[in-house]
Amino acid sequence: MQKSRSLMKLLGYATYDKVRRRLADDNGWLCSYCGGGVTIGFTAGFRLATIDHKIPVSRGGTHKRYNLACACKSCNEAKGSMTVEEFLRSQLANVANAADVYLEGCPSIAARS
Ligand SMILES: [Zn+2]
Repeated sequence: MQKSRSLMKLLGYATYDKVRRRLADDNGWLCSYCGGGVTIGFTAGFRLATIDHKIPVSRGGTHKRYNLACACKSCNEAKGSMTVEEFLRSQLANVANAADVYLEGCPSIAARS
């Protein structure tokens, strides 16, 4: 969240909100990472749209358009100071772990191994 606050401070809220809306609109009002619907304000079933830095500012990323992505608040917070690649790899690892846990408890799969 610190990076969002610093960008908001840098741009001022009105410009920050304009950039956020533009990114969300360009991305079909979907999160770049989970594909969930995003919104500005509150809409049931949608998550708050935020501005994510693909390469975090803390790791040398810039506020330039090519480094910005529309992300839901949950993904942005989970991504933290990870790069896009690191974040997506962590998500894949979580899915793989969840699959392992699920399959371990599945008798038909366990019987085959
Ligand atoms: Zn998301």
